[in-house]
Amino acid sequence: MSGLDQLQFLSWLLYILVFASVLVRTIRRPTPAHVDVSLFFGAIAILVVLTGLASRLHLVQPEWLVNDVSGALAMSMGYLLLRLVQDFTDVPKLVLRAVEVGFVASVVAILILPSPLPGLASIILVAYLVLVLVYGTWAFARQATRTHGVTSRRMQAAAAGSLCVGLALSVTSLSVGFPELAGLWTELGAAVGLASGVFYFVAFAPPTWLRRVWQDPELRAFLGRASHLPHLPATGDIVKELERGTADALGASEASIALSDPDTPPVTGRAFLEQRATLITKTGPADPEHAADFERYRARAILSAPITAGETRLGVLNVYAPRAPVFANSDLELVQFMADQAAVILQTRALIEESASLRAREEAVRLKEDFLSSAAHDLKTPLTTLITQAQVLLRRAERNPDAAADRSGLSRLLEQSLRLKDLTLELLDVSRLEHASLLNDLEEVDLRELLMTMVGRDGVGWQRVDVEAEQPVYAAVDALRFEQALTNLVENALKYSPIQSRVLVRLGVGDGEARISIQDNGIGIPTQDQHLVFDRFYRARNVDDRRFAGMGLGLYIARGIVVQHGGRIWLQSAAGEGSTFFIAVKAAVAGPQLIADGSLANA
Ligand code: ADP
Repeated sequence: MSGLDQLQFLSWLLYILVFASVLVRTIRRPTPAHVDVSLFFGAIAILVVLTGLASRLHLVQPEWLVNDVSGALAMSMGYLLLRLVQDFTDVPKLVLRAVEVGFVASVVAILILPSPLPGLASIILVAYLVLVLVYGTWAFARQATRTHGVTSRRMQAAAAGSLCVGLALSVTSLSVGFPELAGLWTELGAAVGLASGVFYFVAFAPPTWLRRVWQDPELRAFLGRASHLPHLPATGDIVKELERGTADALGASEASIALSDPDTPPVTGRAFLEQRATLITKTGPADPEHAADFERYRARAILSAPITAGETRLGVLNVYAPRAPVFANSDLELVQFMADQAAVILQTRALIEESASLRAREEAVRLKEDFLSSAAHDLKTPLTTLITQAQVLLRRAERNPDAAADRSGLSRLLEQSLRLKDLTLELLDVSRLEHASLLNDLEEVDLRELLMTMVGRDGVGWQRVDVEAEQPVYAAVDALRFEQALTNLVENALKYSPIQSRVLVRLGVGDGEARISIQDNGIGIPTQDQHLVFDRFYRARNVDDRRFAGMGLGLYIARGIVVQHGGRIWLQSAAGEGSTFFIAVKAAVAGPQLIADGSLANA
């Protein structure tokens, strides 16, 4: 047997083997797509047997019958290929009809005309076939660019296969026109014929190992991301990632996950109810539950697998393909594998959420307890003084009704009542801050004037405060609230520093901001506490509750006010050396000469 014969024999064998394999598959699962694939390869296989073996060995007689039948079979290839194209992508009706008409006409011509066919007739028939093959090549190639993963690769192979058949056909026909090159043409024809067999085999009946190799990159990419998935912000995001990963791995157009959630309609479908992976094709006995899915995803086939972790049925994973042959039986295993991954990821997520909500609940309880004990503790001291003082005054008045009013006693009573009022207001501010804005209307205010008025009030210890503000600085603020924030900072500076030390308040502008700093030489704030002191109820570790009264709300409120003004608040401090708190808010345009003067950026 010559090399050429071997090549030819190999490609015949290949086509016959592919036919056998797709036939077995079709008998097992007679979907329309499988039937189309079997018809296509069946036609080629019979053609091969007839022309290749029977005619060479003269097993079938008479010769005209062999010629007619093999001619008709060859012409059917165009039509059958188009049916395959249609299984993977839409084919315009006009093209379909034209190919059908062409097929019927060519068979009639073969039957009517004498054998062998006159030259012109054979040229027309070959041209028709080549045209159909060119169209098939183009349609498959286009579909390869529209799909991804394994499906795209199968489409590439189908396009290459059709191209090779077209080439083989053209080459063989050319050998008739140029008989002097017959040897070369025949060899070339045999080689591309073999190539077409390989490509078609890979496209329409890819062995499982090859599908796995194709699916591998997408699968690896998904598994690479899988460990991060449980930590995504929302369960919805995880579900989306799982759906995308599954669709990519299977080369399908869409995938969806239905979770069995008390808030959503119950999950139905065979895969969920029977707890096993299922392939549902529209033309097969599809579950009525999937009718809507077929519509929505324009699917002709759905692969479903239950997502189950141990005994817990979490939901179902569905993968949709607009064309049934996109899937193979072996894909069921892959979908089940992805569903199992999804189960692990979703279960991990549920555990993370559970422990987070447990922590949040514990934190809420702790905050409430903190709040109650701080509030009760701080309200108790002035209240006790208030009651004792009132009792003393009452007793005195009862003993000696005509005596003059005890002015100092009454003023102590007032002082404690005011402290109580301040504490209560602080608590109210905190709750307002958490639920809404603390601010009223903003107005352009000269902050220097605001500071001067503030320190001018004769509050306890306020005579220790110095103000350094050379120029007026304007900013749009809620004057009352802004002053409240500054007061909190100044009172802290006074409270946490020795009574003979001074507190320096400075005002300046820089980079379009009004900046105020409040500096003391007090106990300072340990570095580890500095980022926490603006939190609710937080008091630094160097603060002794008995020496320094306070609830740990002043800075929290001050920060809330500054932030609601669109400003910033921060601090610099060293334990034992003192602290400086800074506030910066956008400066207003009033007094533009000041804002332009960078030298005032002293804070
Ligand atoms: P309170 O003063 O009622 O404890 P604040 O919210 O005003 O609450 O302050 C929170 C904590 O920040 C204080 O308990 C204290 O530890 C620390 N702190 C605030 N200002 C100063 C300061 N000027 N010097 C030292 N520590 C300060």
